[in-house]
Amino acid sequence: MSDLRGAIIPVTPFQQNCAILWDEATRIGLVIDPGGDVERILAAIDQTGAKIEKIVLTHGHLDHAGGAAGLRDALQARSGAGVPIEGPDIRDKFLLDGIAEQAAAYGFEASNVTPDRWMEEGDVVTFGPHRFEVLHCPGHTPGSLVYVNQAARFAVMGDVLFQGSIGRTDFPYGDHAALITAIKTKLLPLGDDFSFLCGHGPGSTMGAEKAGNPFLR
Ligand SMILES: [Zn+2]
Repeated sequence: MSDLRGAIIPVTPFQQNCAILWDEATRIGLVIDPGGDVERILAAIDQTGAKIEKIVLTHGHLDHAGGAAGLRDALQARSGAGVPIEGPDIRDKFLLDGIAEQAAAYGFEASNVTPDRWMEEGDVVTFGPHRFEVLHCPGHTPGSLVYVNQAARFAVMGDVLFQGSIGRTDFPYGDHAALITAIKTKLLPLGDDFSFLCGHGPGSTMGAEKAGNPFLR
């Protein structure tokens, strides 16, 4: 039995799945990919009763990271304690440095952000008794990370793999072949029973995607 709990808050005009994960026993938690709508995320945190001790980013895109600095500042103002931002891989620094400019082009406000801890393959993110291993899965962006909890058989996917689809790679820095390789060599081998949360839309399992995802044929 795992005491890992989660809530999803779709944020930004891109309906990105910001996630709050917390430990039921201790209420210690973290927020993954606060892309924007910081007030709504704060309200959701209050509903869960979670005590947020860190913010984690899967990759550098605006809709995933645009609210990270704002949420950190709001949480720190509330508690007086530091709330570090961890991830993504440093290869997404150029995206995090361009968030404000990108947001302005879409007509809304968001802040550039510099993580307190860049992460890479093999690193581990912990909160309470929970442990997520870091897999580097480039292709959608150069620094995309997937966070894997072996005990709960659960992963946080960002925009690497979706139910019936894969992350888009039509950016100048996109790499379709690298994305497919990462999915096939690092994610599908996790096991058919492994479930995951996607950056947009519904979640899925490795088994369902191995069997039915047309991009993985
Ligand atoms: Zn993305």
